[in-house]
Amino acid sequence: MTEPRRVIARVLSQATDHPDAEELHRRANAHDSSISLATVYRTVKLFEDAGIIQAHDFRDGRARYEEVPDEHHDHLINVKTGEVVEFHSDEIEKLQEEIAKRLGFRLVDHRLELYGVPVKEDD
Ligand SMILES: [Zn+2]
Repeated sequence: MTEPRRVIARVLSQATDHPDAEELHRRANAHDSSISLATVYRTVKLFEDAGIIQAHDFRDGRARYEEVPDEHHDHLINVKTGEVVEFHSDEIEKLQEEIAKRLGFRLVDHRLELYGVPVKEDD
């Protein structure tokens, strides 16, 4: 692996959020200021094709990236702040498989994003 790739891989594995390419670029530059945004774009594409990372579309017009997690999770997006909450639901997982089965399919993958606003507890 080339040095820029190594830096970008490290930044990705340290990320606890879902950074976009520009944010990855900013973080990578903190380690190596010679890494260009074009290199970041090329590298995330490469990692995505290799199945190391996942790209997400949370409807804000930019792809967000995260390492493929050991345990599957889905995302809930706060539409007011853009905050992304990760969750896992055995009920949803099971239901999805049942629906696929009912339709004559064996489920191999799925994507689920929920979009919401926080419920105020005061009123
Ligand atoms: Zn996630």
